[in-house]
Amino acid sequence: MSQDCLFCKIVAGDIPSELIHEDEHCVAFNDISPQAPTHILVIPRKHIESMDDSSTNDSELLGHLLLTAAKIARDKGFAENGYRTVINTNEDGGQTVFHLHVHLLGGRKFIFPPG
Ligand code: 5GP
Ligand code: ZN
Repeated sequence: MSQDCLFCKIVAGDIPSELIHEDEHCVAFNDISPQAPTHILVIPRKHIESMDDSSTNDSELLGHLLLTAAKIARDKGFAENGYRTVINTNEDGGQTVFHLHVHLLGGRKFIFPPG
């Protein structure tokens, strides 16, 4: 846990969130500022600042985050229609919270490339 990390505080339960899923390795909760009818953040319990800070030691964990997002999309019933998973990295990537997270967005059509 990183002392002043917002998402570490959510993992610890010190800051409330609308929990969607939790397991040994990750937690998923609704984004506070949804950009789609469904907008969920899937985050590792372990504090990793960004993709830029990840390593081969995190291979299984990174796979688990994506597979968890896919399962949530199926469970919530929008997988077949489709969805968007996004990982913003560092300043140019638009990252604002420096605890690695996968955005899972669904319930509308997305354009590509994103802005
Ligand atoms: P980033 O911009 O780093 O890719 O994504 C950070 C996301 O965290 C944003 O979509 C933002 O709305 C969300 N967020 C920021 N603060 C909170 C919070 O306190 N609670 C929740 N649930 N989401 C948050
Ligand atoms: Zn953290």
